[in-house]
Amino acid sequence: PKKVVVVGGGDTSIDVASVARRLGHIKTINPKDHPDGLIIGHTAQDVSTALAKEGADVTLTSLFPVESMTAAEHEVQDAMREGVRILGNVMPIEVIRDESGRATALKMSGCTVEGNRPIPKEGTEFTLEADIIVAAIGQLGDLEGLEALDNGRGFIDADKFYQVPGRPGHFVIGDIVRPHLLTTAIGQASIAVDSVDHYLKHEELVKRPKVDVHHFNLLQKLKEAGLEPESCPTGELRGTSELECAVHNYEDRSAQEIIPADKLFLAHFEYTPRIKRKEIGPSAEEVIGHFEERFVGFTDEEAQAEANRCMSCGMCFECDNCVIFCPQDAVYRVPKDKSTTGRYVATDYTRCIGCHICSDVCPTGYIDMGMGE
Ligand SMILES: Cc1cc2nc3c(=O)[nH]c(=O)nc-3n(C[C@H](O)[C@H](O)[C@H](O)COP(=O)(O)OP(=O)(O)OC[C@H]3O[C@@H](n4cnc5c(N)ncnc54)[C@H](O)[C@@H]3O)c2cc1C
Ligand code: SF4
Ligand code: SF4
Repeated sequence: PKKVVVVGGGDTSIDVASVARRLGHIKTINPKDHPDGLIIGHTAQDVSTALAKEGADVTLTSLFPVESMTAAEHEVQDAMREGVRILGNVMPIEVIRDESGRATALKMSGCTVEGNRPIPKEGTEFTLEADIIVAAIGQLGDLEGLEALDNGRGFIDADKFYQVPGRPGHFVIGDIVRPHLLTTAIGQASIAVDSVDHYLKHEELVKRPKVDVHHFNLLQKLKEAGLEPESCPTGELRGTSELECAVHNYEDRSAQEIIPADKLFLAHFEYTPRIKRKEIGPSAEEVIGHFEERFVGFTDEEAQAEANRCMSCGMCFECDNCVIFCPQDAVYRVPKDKSTTGRYVATDYTRCIGCHICSDVCPTGYIDMGMGE
């Protein structure tokens, strides 16, 4: 299509408008009509498509002023630089069709927005010609055959386990719960698969910790590494502090949360500036057929350098500071054949005098000591 009108104002509308500019308008021309003999060595079809692309005239219309559109601001700026025309404070009022019923234009009006309701401004009507009109203004599910799961608004409700409330064994995630992002859908799916696993094993669905990506289950880690404590003798046990089987002898810091910067020992870290990705957005003249990312991805070296800036907030990154600085030699490295994630160092409490030095020099805040309260 030569004239594209996108009605929207959010991320989806910006994507549609930008892609329309990149695709351009493809006019079918006969390669032999082309004057300059460039077709030698190419198939006729390659040439006819490559040479016949013209810029599409792409207009995006938004109810809100351009600066308050919900789309990410840098994407709005990129789209404008690439030649998308954005009209703010306007609303569509009528689709104009030809005799065959095909849409040929959109009648628009200037508008103000009260709450979320657009109010047309009288006397500001105008027409936008269009070969195609794309409405990017929200979505809902097609629940044909799944009516019983419809929450009445074209979506499906989910509880915190991503199970449909009142419907054991029915799990749901993603846009059909609430249109959002791919990353949201993937995060929800990772919780839902656990829920499904528990459900199939007839286990109770367990609530997940708030910051679950930084938590690990020490016992589970020990099991994975084949270091599971042997089962303890049954009956009443006393003086278990030396027993290998007693899990409380394994320092379990798995509940450690991500911690704020003021709890890190920042002096340990050198200042390392962030590596920013380069932007190579094309201009309006260069955009047709340009399908490179606007942001250039990191090279392997850059990605590794960025990852190396991680300060491991709240997690042990095996720096040995606590082992080195403990005046009592109470902190020791767990022997390799017994260590797992989160169990790199352990403390011999018969030597510890509670001086807090290990906690002070731990760069990541992993050693969390109370004041005896
Ligand atoms: C233009 C656009 C740009 C976007 N850009 C981004 C972005 O940059 N980053 C980001 O994180 N997110 C982005 N999103 C949002 C992201 O695409 C969605 O949030 C994500 O795809 C949702 O995943 P989902 O699995 O829930 O649904 P979908 O990806 O929509 O998958 C649902 C699937 O179910 C199928 N289906 C529907 N009904 C039935 C049925 N009855 N039976 C069987 N199958 C059925 C559909 O065909 C579809 O394949 C964008 C969305 C759009 C539209
Ligand atoms: S509190 Fe002091 S003595 Fe105890 S383990 Fe830490 S550094 Fe060593
Ligand atoms: S607990 Fe802290 S100081 Fe000790 S090795 Fe781990 S990160 Fe380093």
